[in-house]
Amino acid sequence: MTPEHVDVLIVGAGISGVGAGHHLRERCPDKSFAILEARADMGGTWDLFRYPGIRSDSDMHTLGFRFKPWTDSTSLADGPSILSYVREAADEAGLNDKIRYHHRVVSAAWSSADARWTVGVERTDTGETVQLTCGFLFMCSGYYRYDEGYSPEFPGIDRFGGEVIHPQHWPEDLDYAGKRVVVIGSGATAVTLVPAMAETAGHVTMLQRSPTYVVSIPGEDPIANFVRRVLPEKAAYAVVRWKNVLLQMAVFRLSKRRPKLVRNLIRKGTIRALPAGYEVDKHFKPKYDPWDQRMCAIPDGDLFEAISAGRAEIVTDRIETFTESGVKLESGQELEADIVITATGLNLLFLGGATISVDGEEPDVSRTMTYKGMLLSDVPNFAFTLGYSNASWTLKADLTSEYVCRLLNHMDEHGYSVCVPRAHGIQPSDEPLVELTSGYVLRSIEQLPKQGPGDPWQLKMNYAKDLRALRHGALVDSAMEFSSPAAEPEPAEPALA
Ligand SMILES: Cc1cc2nc3c(=O)[nH]c(=O)nc-3n(C[C@H](O)[C@H](O)[C@H](O)COP(=O)(O)OP(=O)(O)OC[C@H]3O[C@@H](n4cnc5c(N)ncnc54)[C@H](O)[C@@H]3O)c2cc1C
Repeated sequence: MTPEHVDVLIVGAGISGVGAGHHLRERCPDKSFAILEARADMGGTWDLFRYPGIRSDSDMHTLGFRFKPWTDSTSLADGPSILSYVREAADEAGLNDKIRYHHRVVSAAWSSADARWTVGVERTDTGETVQLTCGFLFMCSGYYRYDEGYSPEFPGIDRFGGEVIHPQHWPEDLDYAGKRVVVIGSGATAVTLVPAMAETAGHVTMLQRSPTYVVSIPGEDPIANFVRRVLPEKAAYAVVRWKNVLLQMAVFRLSKRRPKLVRNLIRKGTIRALPAGYEVDKHFKPKYDPWDQRMCAIPDGDLFEAISAGRAEIVTDRIETFTESGVKLESGQELEADIVITATGLNLLFLGGATISVDGEEPDVSRTMTYKGMLLSDVPNFAFTLGYSNASWTLKADLTSEYVCRLLNHMDEHGYSVCVPRAHGIQPSDEPLVELTSGYVLRSIEQLPKQGPGDPWQLKMNYAKDLRALRHGALVDSAMEFSSPAAEPEPAEPALA
C-alpha cells in the first residue's frame, strides 16, 4: 500500500508543534500537513509534569506565542494554565484534526530520487507500525526523554523504607500532608516543589550538592497589568513582550560583562529576603557566574518565605548513603524522611530519539553543524526547534516556524523541491550547541550537533539578532543549496544577509 503523503510533517504537539501548525496554516495555507504526537494528549512538557506547584519560570509574555496574547494577570503561570493556553491556540488554529496522537516517530529516511522523507511511526496504543511520507520534516520534539528523568545512582537507596519519586512521574494520589519530605536537587523543579509542598507537608528539606542562583520576581507584573488597562489587548501584549525581551537581554548581557556586579546584586536581594544570620553564602552562592547555568526565578520570594517561616530548609551537603529512614550525609548529618523526591533533572534527547538517514546513510548527528540553529548540514528538507536557554523557549520556536514557512514559500515560488545547507568543507567549531554548564547539558553535549566557526552555522541565543536574520534576512546564501526535481542543483548564490 502506498503510504499517506503530506507536504509537511510536524513531530510533536507541545508548544513548538502547536506553534508550527499555526504558522503553517497562516503562512502556507495550501500545504497539507499533519502533526504526529507520541502521547495521548497535546502540550508536551505542560501536560507531562504534574508535580505540586508546576509553573513556568519565564514570564508568559515571552513564553506565550507571538500571535496569541497572554491575558492572565499572572506573569509566571502554573502548568494547567499553560496547558489550557496551548490547547486554546491549537483550537483557534483548527489543529485538532491535524494532530495524530499515539504516533511515535522512530525513523525518517530521505530519498533524493523521490525528494521525500519516509517516516516510520510506532503506534503507542496498538503497537502497530505505520509509514507516512512527506516533503519536509519539521521536528518539534523537545529536548529531553519523556520516559525517564535523570536519577543518579544513590548508594543504599534500596534499603530506604519510604517512597522515592521523580518529579517527571508524579503519582496522582501522593499524600504528603504532615510528612517529612526531602527534595534532592537545586534546579527550577526543586525550588518550585519546596514551597509548594511545604504548604501541607510536615517539613520539607531541599538537599543540594551545590547552590544555584535564585532570584525573586513579581508573580504579577505591575507594568504589564497597567499597560493592559490602557492599551488594546494585542498592542499591550506586544509592548510587554518587548519590555521583557529587552530586560532579559540586558540582564544576560550584564551577567556576562559584569558577573561580579550581578552576583552582588543577587546576594544582596537574597540577604534581604531571609532572616538575619541566615547562611546565604553557604546555600545561595554558586561557584559559577550568573547565567553560566540557567537562573531560577521564584514568584514573590515564595522559597525564601517558606524558609523564613521554618516550613522548609536548605541543606548543602553530599549524600553518603540512604538509610532505612532517610539520608545520611557526608558531614555526618542524617535527614529523616518519609518521602524523597529526586529533582535531579532530565535526560537530554535530540530529535525525539528518531534515527535519520539520507539516501541510506545515517549521518553522525554529532558531526553535523546547525544552520541558523534549526537545519542540519547535509540533511535535506529538514528543520528542528531548539528554544533559547537564556530566554523563553517560544521566542525562538516562533521564529523557527516563521523561517520554515518562508523557506517553503520561497521554494514554491522558484519551483524548487529540495533545500539543503552545505558546509563546503567548513569544519565544526569546538563551541557546544548549548552553552550552559548545567549537569543535564554536560552529560549529553557530545550527542548534539555542533556549531560552525561563523554565520550561518552559529546559534545566536539572542532574540533581536535572530529576529533580523530569521524574519527579515535573506533565504539565499552561499551555504543553502536549492534544487528542483530531476534537475541539477542551482549553484549557490553569494551571501546576501
Ligand atoms: C518542568 C519544566 C519547566 C520549564 N519551564 C520553562 C520556562 O519557564 N520557560 C521556558 O522557556 N522553558 C521552560 N521549559 C522548557 C520547555 O520544555 C519549553 O519551554 C517548551 O515547553 C518546549 O516545548 P516543545 O514543544 O518544544 O517541547 P516539549 O514540551 O518537550 O514537547 C515535545 C512534544 O513532542 C513529542 N515527541 C517527542 N518525541 C517524539 C517522537 N519521536 N514522535 C512523536 N512525538 C514526539 C512529545 O511527546 C511532546 O508532546 C521547562 C521545561 C521543564 C521540563
